[in-house]
Amino acid sequence: MKEIREHCGIFGIFNVSEAAKLTYLGLHALQHRGQEGSGIVTSTYDEQKQRWMMPSHKDHGLVLDVFKDPHIFENKLLGMSAIGHNRYSTSGAANNRANIQPLKVHYREGNLALAHNGNISNARELWRSFSERGTLFQSTSDSEIVLHLIAQSRRRKQIDQIIDAVSQLEGAFSLVLLTDTSLIALRDQSGFRPLCLGRIKDPNTGSYGYCVASETCAFDLMGAEYIRDVNPGEILVIDREGIEDESFKSFDMPRKYPVSQCVFEYIYFSRPDSMVFGEMVDKVRRKIGKQLAHDAPVPAVSEGEKSPIVISVPDSSNTATLGYVSECIKLGFPCRYEIGLIRNHYIGRTFISPGQNSRETRVRLKFNTVNGVLKDRIVVIVDDSIVRGTTARFLVNMIREAGAKEVHFRISSPPVISPCFYGMDFPSKDELFANQFSDIDAMAEWLGVDSIAYLSKEGLKTAVHSANSSPHGYCNACFTKEYPTPIEMGVTKEENEW
Ligand code: AMP
Repeated sequence: MKEIREHCGIFGIFNVSEAAKLTYLGLHALQHRGQEGSGIVTSTYDEQKQRWMMPSHKDHGLVLDVFKDPHIFENKLLGMSAIGHNRYSTSGAANNRANIQPLKVHYREGNLALAHNGNISNARELWRSFSERGTLFQSTSDSEIVLHLIAQSRRRKQIDQIIDAVSQLEGAFSLVLLTDTSLIALRDQSGFRPLCLGRIKDPNTGSYGYCVASETCAFDLMGAEYIRDVNPGEILVIDREGIEDESFKSFDMPRKYPVSQCVFEYIYFSRPDSMVFGEMVDKVRRKIGKQLAHDAPVPAVSEGEKSPIVISVPDSSNTATLGYVSECIKLGFPCRYEIGLIRNHYIGRTFISPGQNSRETRVRLKFNTVNGVLKDRIVVIVDDSIVRGTTARFLVNMIREAGAKEVHFRISSPPVISPCFYGMDFPSKDELFANQFSDIDAMAEWLGVDSIAYLSKEGLKTAVHSANSSPHGYCNACFTKEYPTPIEMGVTKEENEW
């Protein structure tokens, strides 16, 4: 199964004019969650044919490119409800068009479309049993399995078919489903990936429409207001009946595991202007930066020496770096925040390119140094994480070439030591930077830095809980190897390809 490690952006909207255009805006705001491909499916009643239709448009590329032709919205993507998806690139089946979501089928209950964020960890097993029964697969995506489970369920009502299907899934899945008459939003019971509910007033009809999105930044762009998160294990049905008084039907999945939301959404993945898991990412990320200052402040300098400058790796480390600098100063370690690296925004994420060489090229294309800022200074560079180490090593080299006197590396997360089976795109265990060295000095030597220090696991926990008072727990498996649900351990990315 090629697409086992996906993190994506999903959006859905119900009961609003120009639903497709609003979905386009939502997907644009969620572009950081996936840049490989994008798609929208709408639901519309065709008076001539006297039946519901689900037109769709999807392609490889960024949202603005995929939907650059305005006629798509005027002539094709009609209707008052829609779902959309941004796909994240993995090195495998990047060219397979069939994997671009939303996926769409027609079965005995009518049309059904799906957009998925996460990673179904028992997909291989389910796929095998479907294949033995002769089920034909259109894509190599684990998300397609959900559609087969729904279509082949023996339950009579559609909502029961959906409950039946998702009860058989393990792992991470935030889903939006579009049926002919409803929008269904659900999160796996662990709540690995985020999903929130919002409300928007339709200027044409004056009535309210409802939307769901991976992150609230999608709501801000269209003037929608956040209502609440879709709860872990909740299946929320948004249909005409519930709209009047916002009394949407909500169903619970059978509970097997405690809630464990992905802490990496706070560390790296989500946008700081989003509310995720009920708290602003900016607030949590600043706290993480402050805690890093307690665990690993900037180096103390001798009298008469210029104090260190602290630079972030833009953009994902900016917020944590602000917290880090203010707390270092408070703790009596003088330093100054500086902009020493400039990022070219027109390059996708470093992970998009397959193969180590082109990954290096991508880092080189993505960052440049501001030499006047770095020359002759003690430079402390803050990054949110080290995964393979490609970015860190290359950046250190650049900063040295710019004339820095000393280079110190600080990471606002603990060492990543174990792959993610719930939707973060991490490489295999052996490829992870932190697993390749026996101690911190060996890491420093390979990176070419004067010192390196990580946020502690305890520190991360303290920071996140002090920023978000929710009693829900978090998944830290990438830092601890403690997976909150059973997973098919030892299965490599390649072995998971079908
Ligand atoms: P690496 O070069 O592999 O060490 O990549 C680390 C950089 O990639 C950090 O600067 C992070 O901001 C970013 N990063 C961390 N996790 C991921 C991920 N799952 N996918 C893409 N980029 C990531």
